[in-house]
Amino acid sequence: MKYINEEKINNLIVDATKIDSRKLDVILKKAKSLQRLTLDESAVLLLIKDPEDIQKIFSAASFVKDAIYGRRVVLFVPLYISNLCANNCLYCAFKSDNSLIKRKALTVPEINTQTEWLLSRGHKRILMVCGEEAPSGKSNIDYYTEAIKAIYAAEVGKNKIKRVNVNCAPLGVDEFKQLKASGIGTYQIFQETYHQDTYLRMHPKGPKRDPDNRIDAVDRAFSAGIDDIGIGALFGLYDWRFETLGLLSHVQHMEKKFKVGPHTISVPRIEPAEGAELSLNPPYKISDEEFKKVVAVLRLSVPYTGIIMTTRENAGMRDLLLSLGVSQISAESNTSPGGYSAGNAEQAGLPDRQAGGQFSLGDHRSLDQIVGALIAHDYIPSFCAACYRLERTGETFMQMAKPGTIKGKCSMNALITLKEYLNDFASVSVRDACQKMIARYFKQLDPLEQEQLKLFIGHVDSGIRDEYV
Ligand code: SF4
Repeated sequence: MKYINEEKINNLIVDATKIDSRKLDVILKKAKSLQRLTLDESAVLLLIKDPEDIQKIFSAASFVKDAIYGRRVVLFVPLYISNLCANNCLYCAFKSDNSLIKRKALTVPEINTQTEWLLSRGHKRILMVCGEEAPSGKSNIDYYTEAIKAIYAAEVGKNKIKRVNVNCAPLGVDEFKQLKASGIGTYQIFQETYHQDTYLRMHPKGPKRDPDNRIDAVDRAFSAGIDDIGIGALFGLYDWRFETLGLLSHVQHMEKKFKVGPHTISVPRIEPAEGAELSLNPPYKISDEEFKKVVAVLRLSVPYTGIIMTTRENAGMRDLLLSLGVSQISAESNTSPGGYSAGNAEQAGLPDRQAGGQFSLGDHRSLDQIVGALIAHDYIPSFCAACYRLERTGETFMQMAKPGTIKGKCSMNALITLKEYLNDFASVSVRDACQKMIARYFKQLDPLEQEQLKLFIGHVDSGIRDEYV
């Protein structure tokens, strides 16, 4: 597979076991100064087995997370617009051979209705997701751009979606230019596995069968001017240490060629998917302890890159991973096209919320419950999209993220968006928690920032929405 040196990764995994654990302190000191780690250093961390040393890794990861991002946690929700797919990935319910699920590609009015439902719950950031096949008579790019337009057009009161990130099939450069022009935030594409043989086994047919075409989609998106890119691996397909080093090799390639790493890294674990037998018994199941290590090592290795955790994981695991490096989480997700409201599901011919879903979920809490839980753990829930609005993307964002200077803006914007949530959507108990959190963080600001926040809060109370710094 392009950009991935399997031999080197395999050697690193073997060699790192011989490394004196005293080297750990040197590596952690470097990581805590917010410097990127080399592949060799990351490999050492992945191979550490001593429980006390693992705790050192975890506490260094917490330190780095706090230094870069502060206490804010960005919330988003996936919107599945279609489960049609031309590929046959063995782990996915949308695979083309699967006759057990109902197929559906949402129409523009349906996308609008789904978005309104999400807006009425308080969501402001959407990740648009779809299988890799357009409805008949349409090209992928035409379907994507009309869907994105429908999402941005939806409105509930004064609330609109602020940012649409997209997880869709790889495109050509000209199509990526159209995707960028439609106003997307991050373009996400997961390699799934960085191990060539495993990749070929898992993707027996369809356009996704070519691993180089998939990995090159990142380069094509960059060439088209999309500089916020999200990469990811599906954990459970192959050795977790290899996949982590594969992800980091991909990061190195991006940094070398485009001088900017990924905006986000996603680390989904395989979950049971209807009609996809492999998902019930993943070939390289990763334990909770190993998974925690993956998140912590990624946080230390690429401190400036957001780490995304979806509702595949259960509430307890998600809360815990926030302290180890996760900076963005999904909330209230449904993986069925048309699954967000019973009315709409019926209209769409789907029998219930989970019909036609991609995989099963581990966290079923509502957005309001998740906001409440974040506050209880002293994290500031954030619905901010300021960087994208102010063109703090790609290299510009990295220059602010690398020294940790983005966190002041993140905290301010998180508090402004939390105030909007409090006024428009929060339940009585969560409203109270939001109020107390804003008051508590207000006291920690310097006098100038206090004045700024007071001004924004006054604006929100007077009905103005969507302000940011
Ligand atoms: S993982 Fe993606 S490409 Fe593969 S079958 Fe599922 S939806 Fe299609």
